[in-house]
Amino acid sequence: MPRISGQCLCGAVKFEAQEADDEFHVCHCGMCRRWGSGPFMAVRANGVEFSGTEHLDRYRSSEWAERGFCKKCGSNLFYFLIPGNEYFVSVGALQDPPALTLGSELFIDHKPAGYELAGSHRKLTEAEFFAEWS
Ligand SMILES: [Zn+2]
Ligand SMILES: [Zn+2]
Repeated sequence: MPRISGQCLCGAVKFEAQEADDEFHVCHCGMCRRWGSGPFMAVRANGVEFSGTEHLDRYRSSEWAERGFCKKCGSNLFYFLIPGNEYFVSVGALQDPPALTLGSELFIDHKPAGYELAGSHRKLTEAEFFAEWS
C-alpha cells in the first residue's frame, strides 16, 4: 500500500494520498472513453488531499460519481464514488508511479475491438460489474 502523489499536465493541481491499492483498474465504459479518449486507468486511494483546488473542478457524471479535472489544462485526475466516499485517482497523473499491477478490466463488453491489454487479470462485462458492485 504505497503512498502516492500526482499532478495534472500543467501542474496547477497536485494531490497526495496516504495510501493506495497495489493494483489498478481499467474501465472501458462509454463515459470513461469519451472523457479521456481511451480507457480510464485508476487506482483506489485513501486520504487524498489536493493543492491548487481553485483550478480543480468536478463534473457530476452520474447519480453516484464525480469526475475531477484541471480547469486550466483539462487533465483527468480522479473518479470519485459518492456513496463510498472513495477516490480512484488517474494512474496517468501519478508522479514516479509505483509498480502497480493490473487488477481488472471493467465494462469489457464496451471495449472497441481495435486494442487489447495483455495479461491474465479479471475481465468483467457491464452486467458482471453491476452484479458484483451493487
Ligand atoms: Zn492543469
Ligand atoms: Zn468507466
